[in-house]
Amino acid sequence: MNAEIIAVGSELLLGQITNSNARFLSNHLAELGINVYYHTVVGDNSERLKDTINIAENRADLIIFTGGLGPTKDDLTKETIARHLGTTLEMDHEALDSIVAFFERAGRAMTENNKKQALVLKGSEVLVNHHGMAPGMLYKTETHTYMLLPGPPKEMEPMFQYEAKPKLAKLLNQADVILSHVLRFYGIGEAELEDRIQDILEQQTNPTIAPLASDGEVTLRITAKTNTEEQAWKLIEEAKATLLERVGDYLYGYDNDSLASKAIDLLREQQKTISAAESLTAGLFQSELAAVAGASWVLAGGVITYNEEMKISQLGISSEVLARFGVVSEETAVAMAQAVRSKFNTDISVSLTGAAGPDAHGDQPAGTVWIGIATEEETKAYRLQLSGMRNTNRLRAVKLALSYIIR
Ligand code: ATP
Ligand code: MG
Repeated sequence: MNAEIIAVGSELLLGQITNSNARFLSNHLAELGINVYYHTVVGDNSERLKDTINIAENRADLIIFTGGLGPTKDDLTKETIARHLGTTLEMDHEALDSIVAFFERAGRAMTENNKKQALVLKGSEVLVNHHGMAPGMLYKTETHTYMLLPGPPKEMEPMFQYEAKPKLAKLLNQADVILSHVLRFYGIGEAELEDRIQDILEQQTNPTIAPLASDGEVTLRITAKTNTEEQAWKLIEEAKATLLERVGDYLYGYDNDSLASKAIDLLREQQKTISAAESLTAGLFQSELAAVAGASWVLAGGVITYNEEMKISQLGISSEVLARFGVVSEETAVAMAQAVRSKFNTDISVSLTGAAGPDAHGDQPAGTVWIGIATEEETKAYRLQLSGMRNTNRLRAVKLALSYIIR
């Protein structure tokens, strides 16, 4: 089965938002073994949308639309498709009930155009929207399958995953059970990781193994399709064991884990507290930790000492150290980590100082970073030479610091 994804919305063409829906859908369709051959973007314009559908019908079996299911005048996806397919729109009473209930709960008056959201293509299978008002639709003709999904990702993504995907899998006459398990790696590049498992990647059929790299992390998604959950897990576990034999040293977690969540888990287990002195990252390190529920168990706090003066007055770093070794130096990183550890009275502390770029910091080239980690026993410092843009470097430094904690 070949698919085309048509994202409807003038804001996409104006460059106000990126087409993340197409990316999400392509990832999930690949798991089903559906080839996506085209991504199309069209504005909120009925004529041009119709042209787009005509083209898509010539080159795809499955046509997925996102956007334009809402209540406003520029939302015209389903009206245009209904006209194109020679069908009409009818009220879906379940959807209408939930819209009415929503307005009652919110204590707001429901306007007439909100009812419009409950209209669906006559003859379609309705996809329930658990996170918004407009339902989605699956409509089949002899030759094509049309899927209509809402535009907002927080509505579209769960609708696709839980409502549409199982229906598509059935349509493909595939086994009902599709399970995925994600392995998360840090400290190894995508190219090197793939190189080490090249032969496994080449031989894969079921389960499939899909590598993905972002923000300095690499993940491998293992997806198995069979008829029982038990069988699917067995396939996944076998593949996982083979992969970990090769690259297990770099594994840090699974599925929804993050470096920060693993760091929190570990420190909590060891009943340790943490503080941070941040220069380069100006709070980003603590913010990553605080994004994890339960961070308050371990995160005491920290300081942002961005300029030299604050490093001296807030942390008591000696001006001789700063003058002699520089702000971006092992000595400064060590002094910052030790100072914040004693100031906040924590078991462990982290310091981050560096030249984020694009300019060098004194004689330290852009991308030079020093990370200090102090405990009662010792203080270690790590030097990094990063090569990204300014904010990428700052985020990388945070992630590396987290990886040193869980190492
Ligand atoms: P609503 O009921 O919110 O109007 P809708 O189904 O009519 O939903 P649109 O009006 O087309 O959808 O888009 C609503 C919002 O959803 C957009 O402003 C944008 O934030 C987001 N959105 C739409 N299409 C995409 C897309 N392809 N990728 C990412 N986000 C999108
Ligand atoms: Mg809309």
